[in-house]
Amino acid sequence: MTDKKPFEIARETLKQLTVRKLSPTPLNYQRVYNEIGELPNEPAFPADRLRDIALALPTKTPGQQRQRGLLESAINQLNWEGVKNALMAYGGFSPAAPAPSATAGIPLVDSPTPDAPKSVAGTPVISEPVLSAPALTVDFFGQIARLIEYAQPAFGRDDDRFTEQTNTLVKALRQPEANAFEVKQLLSNYSHRLSFAAEDQAEIKAMLIKLLHLIIENISHLSIDDGWLKGQADALMAVCVPPLSLRQLDEVEQRLKDVIFKQTEAKSRVVQAQEDMRQMLATFIDRLASMTESTSGFHNQMESSARLIEQAKTIEEIAPVLKEVVSATRHMAQDSLIARDSLQDMRKKVESTESEIVKLHQELDRVSAQARHDPLTGALNRQGLDEAVNREISKVKRTDTLLCVSLLDIDNFKKLNDTLGHATGDVALAHLASVAREVMRPQDSLARYGGEEFVILLPDTPLEKGIEAMTRLQRELTKRFFLAGTEKVLITFSAGVAQLTPNESGADAIKRADHAMYLAKRAGKNRVLGA
Ligand code: GH3
Ligand code: MG
Ligand code: MG
Repeated sequence: MTDKKPFEIARETLKQLTVRKLSPTPLNYQRVYNEIGELPNEPAFPADRLRDIALALPTKTPGQQRQRGLLESAINQLNWEGVKNALMAYGGFSPAAPAPSATAGIPLVDSPTPDAPKSVAGTPVISEPVLSAPALTVDFFGQIARLIEYAQPAFGRDDDRFTEQTNTLVKALRQPEANAFEVKQLLSNYSHRLSFAAEDQAEIKAMLIKLLHLIIENISHLSIDDGWLKGQADALMAVCVPPLSLRQLDEVEQRLKDVIFKQTEAKSRVVQAQEDMRQMLATFIDRLASMTESTSGFHNQMESSARLIEQAKTIEEIAPVLKEVVSATRHMAQDSLIARDSLQDMRKKVESTESEIVKLHQELDRVSAQARHDPLTGALNRQGLDEAVNREISKVKRTDTLLCVSLLDIDNFKKLNDTLGHATGDVALAHLASVAREVMRPQDSLARYGGEEFVILLPDTPLEKGIEAMTRLQRELTKRFFLAGTEKVLITFSAGVAQLTPNESGADAIKRADHAMYLAKRAGKNRVLGA
């Protein structure tokens, strides 16, 4: 290593490019720079390209997932040796041992059982040797067998005949001395049945989506009186539009869970209120009946007493009648008192049921707040964001990857609200969320952090890439306006991006991103700054 400072090396490099009449390409610059700086002349580590490759590798089995994890972690550490070892492990080679030749057979990656054939001609992922014609056939057949096995889960195992055909074909393909004519015949039968199976699966999928739509539509009709539920159902409908990805289905599942939970709560609330009312009505009718009974008894008593008084000739005859009248009146008064008390009880009960229902409403509002999505924008809400942050941070720890957190705040939103109205402001928020969802990668998460503030989680992303992603979103947003009546509305935002540091909490990273966003506002808005 030289003692020269980087800027001196850079200056000298530019001089040398001119002196040596080399064209100023990045490659030439790097070569001369390394030479002057006495640095090993290695090309830059193509981490992004390698990450693309890692992402394209299937991770259907735990073994494949583990090996891809190893590959990703080697890429993050810029470790070529690690990349080599991980790729070899993925291809079924032991990193320490030399790669076996195709004719000698390659152990199957993630064999389904320990007894599964371990020695089958497969595809060497690294440095293929030149194969002889018979070896090529074995290798080729082995590849077809693998292809069929990989495709099998997509067609399910419901059709016994098809499963049997598949197994026979795979077995024939793996015979060391496979008979090409037999294989051809089996392949032709297999592909015939496969065409039906594929059609079936496509139809099943389309039917399931149709059913899902039907269910969601039904939910939204049932819950016409509940704005929150209707909002969720509409959002659900918007999410399950083909082509569906696993991530989309995951979101559908989360939302459905929220809706089901809320509906169950709402139902039990109604059932309870109905039961209370029923009981009160029964008590009231009882009371009314006994009151009518005692009043009519009192009337009868009064009438017969009046008759006795009319017929009485002496005061002695009236005295016992009066006694009865007094006693009947006392009873009547007592009955009335009891009736009044019981009616008062009932009133109290009605009042307490009413206040209970109010409490239940408040509780339901709290539950709504706990749901994970914001109905206006479909983005995650604070609760959803907390969960996503926890998930991403534990992934960072598990896979030793980088996470960027970005906070964006729409510029001059208050002015937009003031000039075009709050409803247009709402459209602007939904518009931003929809553009963000389109522009960001499927693994990124969008959350509404506050009124016009959003947080975006960018997994597996170093700071400079995070800033690039947010700048891309900003550019895209300036290209896509929306219409408020006939007026074109353009929105811009300012954002801060923070790369999670070791042991940092999600809240702290968001705080740093928020501070960078604040600096972006101060620097003139419509820009993205790193924290
Ligand atoms: P700055 O560029 O500095 O961020 O200015 P600003 O006007 O965007 O920021 P400020 O925080 O002053 O205003 C935010 C506005 O966002 C105020 C509030 O009325 C509005 N807002 C918050 N939530 C909603 C919403 O759900 N819908 C609508 N339409 N407006 C909202
Ligand atoms: Mg704000
Ligand atoms: Mg703002």
